[in-house]
Amino acid sequence: MLRILFLGTGGSLPTRNRNPSAIMVNREGELLLFDCGEGTQQQMMRAKTGMKALTSIFVTHFHADHMLGIPGLIQTMSFLGRTEPLYIYGPQWVKEFVKIISELGYYKLHFEVEVIEMAPGDIIKRNDYSIHAIGTDHSVPSLGYALIEDQRKGRFEREKAIALGVPPGPLFSKLHSGVDVEVNGKLIRSTDVVGQVRPGRKIVYTGDTRPCQSILAVSRDADVLIHDSTLGNDQSEWAKESKHSTASEAAILAKEAGVRKLVLTHISSRYTDDASPLLREAQEVFENVIIAEDMMEMDIPLKDE
Ligand SMILES: [Zn+2]
Ligand SMILES: [Zn+2]
Repeated sequence: MLRILFLGTGGSLPTRNRNPSAIMVNREGELLLFDCGEGTQQQMMRAKTGMKALTSIFVTHFHADHMLGIPGLIQTMSFLGRTEPLYIYGPQWVKEFVKIISELGYYKLHFEVEVIEMAPGDIIKRNDYSIHAIGTDHSVPSLGYALIEDQRKGRFEREKAIALGVPPGPLFSKLHSGVDVEVNGKLIRSTDVVGQVRPGRKIVYTGDTRPCQSILAVSRDADVLIHDSTLGNDQSEWAKESKHSTASEAAILAKEAGVRKLVLTHISSRYTDDASPLLREAQEVFENVIIAEDMMEMDIPLKDE
């Protein structure tokens, strides 16, 4: 399973229908949080995600709307008896940030918080996926993140294996894992019965940024690109000055990168009543685009399904 849950999709200021930034990814039951704006823990409760399976928080930058939810969330997890460590990743200043929030108030945490400072190009390798830190272009030190799954084994062609005389059983898994086997003196090659390796999936989240080359490069053929889309065309000068992107700038980048789906997020409070102008402006450039809404869920299918 690879599912994205948009917990907070507002830009800078929360509004009555958008929380500040927080994007949760559920990968095979493990929860990863990208940014954690104020109120994220209550959004998690509303979405019934639980907190125990949350292993890691990736902070894009230290503007309040991307990190104020962390102190409350970790206190709640401590109250609930968490003992598993929590990993917090972020650009420079992440260590100071966690130190400050650890000294805030009189509470004591009952679990370890491991803090890892990331720089553009750094890669965190996990079991069968990795998280890449991407340099972005915002008004303070900032990163985007790409979740990239490892390639998957090719499909095992069972009928073909049986036709070649391989008895169903342990030899099947040997062949599937790439080992050649001998059956009645005949060599059966793994490549005879296993198809091409299959690509994993890729999700890119930009955080707050101007459109930039590093995001373009990592977004090539991404399944989903979640891009800063704070403003519309009429505010394009302000987008440049405040180091954000317009919806159509996000769409231009998505088109050039050949992404499968673009999701616009970090929507300015100017569009509280109606964000459709942003969608229209993006659609003029790139068709497969939607605007994120709080509590929106999106499943990312495997590429060959
Ligand atoms: Zn922001
Ligand atoms: Zn910002």
